[in-house]
Amino acid sequence: MTVDPSHVIIAIDGPAASGKSSVARALARKLRYVYINTGAMYRAVTWHAVEQQVPTLEPDKVVALLADTHIVCGLSQMESTITINGIDPTPFLSEEAVNRNVSNIATVPEVRRLLVPLQREYLADHDIVMEGRDIGSAVFPETPYKFYIDASAEVRALRRARQGLQDSIVARDKIDSTRRASPLIIAEDAHVIDSSNLTVEGVVGEIFGRLKQKGLPLGEL
Ligand code: C5P
Repeated sequence: MTVDPSHVIIAIDGPAASGKSSVARALARKLRYVYINTGAMYRAVTWHAVEQQVPTLEPDKVVALLADTHIVCGLSQMESTITINGIDPTPFLSEEAVNRNVSNIATVPEVRRLLVPLQREYLADHDIVMEGRDIGSAVFPETPYKFYIDASAEVRALRRARQGLQDSIVARDKIDSTRRASPLIIAEDAHVIDSSNLTVEGVVGEIFGRLKQKGLPLGEL
């Protein structure tokens, strides 16, 4: 996959609750790039599987479900949107059942083969900040702008608790980093930031400095 040189892709990866969504969104707003949340795509497929009572640990059944699943990815106000068979699942994507099952769904290679091309399509017309687990390693490995946001396990658990969400982040991280298909890894050329003691603005500032250093034209910003 060759990165379209006429558009910029900034890849932001990291484990669950590392703060990467807040950082990616804030960075995209600052740069006036579009913000793409790939976790929402895996969550949307998971929500659909749970709705259809498909056992997420049975890949054959997940693959069979995909045959009847029509996914449309779009943009609204510079952020990614998704519909599944015409329904916008956004209100349900942080439900406990989705949190519990999403990493099983994300291990199924056919799911990734369906979603990754939809992710890559965004670059055709836009400069983007894309967050996920495999953006720098598998979706856009050729981008020079790669960041891996981490935080201590305690801080990550606290962040979820403060959001009032039930989320088995340890279990998800384990499945995400040990799966065969595009596991969560730190890409060799990624800039790693520990966000444990940083604010969102602090992390964005560090990324910004790095982008400047790398020669990304940032205009008046
Ligand atoms: O980022 P978020 O926590 O919403 O992602 C939910 C799940 O989706 C992850 O735990 C992972 O299993 C999967 N995912 C993935 N690849 C991505 C983004 C998310 O496998 N690029």
